[in-house]
Amino acid sequence: MAQHDLMDKIVSLCKRKGFVFPASEIYGGIGNTYDYGPLGVELLRRVKDAWWSRMVTERADVVGLDSAIIQNPQTWVTSGHVGGFSDPMVDCKKCKARFRADKLEDARCPEKPSKRPGECGGELTEPREFNLMFKTHVGPVEGEGSVAYLRPETAQGIFLNFKNVMESTRLKPPFGIAQIGKSFRNEITPGNFVFRTREFEQAEMEFFVPPAEDEKWYEYWCKERFQWYIDLGIDPDKLRLRAHEAKELAHYAKATSDVEYEYPFGWGELEGIANRTDFDLSRHSEASGKDLVYFDPQTKEKYTPYVIEPAGGINRMALTFLIDAYDEEQLEKDKRTVLHLHPLIAPTTVGVFPLVKKEGMPEKAHEIASGLRRAGFSTFYDEKAAIGRRYRRQDENGTPFCVTIDGETLADDVVTVRHRDSMEQERVPVAELTTYLSEAVHGWKRPDRT
Ligand code: ATP
Repeated sequence: MAQHDLMDKIVSLCKRKGFVFPASEIYGGIGNTYDYGPLGVELLRRVKDAWWSRMVTERADVVGLDSAIIQNPQTWVTSGHVGGFSDPMVDCKKCKARFRADKLEDARCPEKPSKRPGECGGELTEPREFNLMFKTHVGPVEGEGSVAYLRPETAQGIFLNFKNVMESTRLKPPFGIAQIGKSFRNEITPGNFVFRTREFEQAEMEFFVPPAEDEKWYEYWCKERFQWYIDLGIDPDKLRLRAHEAKELAHYAKATSDVEYEYPFGWGELEGIANRTDFDLSRHSEASGKDLVYFDPQTKEKYTPYVIEPAGGINRMALTFLIDAYDEEQLEKDKRTVLHLHPLIAPTTVGVFPLVKKEGMPEKAHEIASGLRRAGFSTFYDEKAAIGRRYRRQDENGTPFCVTIDGETLADDVVTVRHRDSMEQERVPVAELTTYLSEAVHGWKRPDRT
């Protein structure tokens, strides 16, 4: 399948099946802004849950936080965002379109899409800095003193709470604080569907370490974050870890590596792991006059921890899982579209179907569906259309398992479990169904990747 076709197919499947809709569509939309429909919102929730499980719940050394989107504006002055959070931009003097100066290679002239900006006869301006933060006003009067910013990253809320968390939990370095939440950037060239939008959700974790241990932990988190994507079924051949060259590094970073995925539009950043040194804590300490250091009562050592930060975007992760899972398979008689999503992140885990809409099968199927819901499985009941069509619909939604109730079930309490990936069917006693499905969810491996 041609790669640009793949992206079009993903966009169309997302709309058709209720993953992602263009925002404000009835008013003509608002450029590159999207809403998540019933399946999309489940996918996002599961990606967040999978991240949170791995980063917080399964660990003894990381705790969570939910900080405010609008913080004291000094936060962004101190962090360097007010002065430096900008992309260099160039304008086309002819068509007035604006492009990122560092991404001209990938950009297209809006009037002549076969050409790059500047190659279309239009002259480009010198690059100018463009601040990416959304400004707003707090309180009833708009004025200099009421300016505030929507956070462009969740990380700063974590730094501001470093001391609060350390004191309330009595954790000591090395330890981490994780947060998932919305961030806002006035991106000048959003695009590639939900890959780059102006409003998005981030999953960030700041891991505070003794300065002498920074390189060890940086290596650790690069490996750990890379592995997470593989464990959730992403094709390892389409993933790479790319270390930034010195000239690419952000002002606060000693080292950064990006987990990159090979998207239909080329390699792109999925997540960044940065060694932010003691830059943020030191700056906030200086600007606020508050001591943001760690004092070890045993060794009497006092230091400002270094910070290793894995920072990813939930929407970008969800898009990546969708792209990677998408497949069109030629079967004997027809073709099927299937999303081979890991069962842990698939929006629906089980489809429950009566074989036919009579003879007590719907009642029995409803009873089994309720039992599965109570056991915590995301369950979808469907009695419309032929059974083969119902399986196909769930294949397209990425539902890994379907349970069919037939005439025999009423006699022997045994159902058919149909597997999305192999399309194989197995007979399973109702009494063993939840254990069977639970093992199938956790033991899942993508068949063509093992
Ligand atoms: P880029 O170079 O793509 O602009 P960045 O290096 O500025 O990204 P970070 O500041 O490191 O991104 O943000 C961490 C993560 O947040 C990114 O890896 C990405 O997954 C996500 N992210 C950043 N900007 C956006 C956006 N505009 N839309 C969606 N996700 C984003």
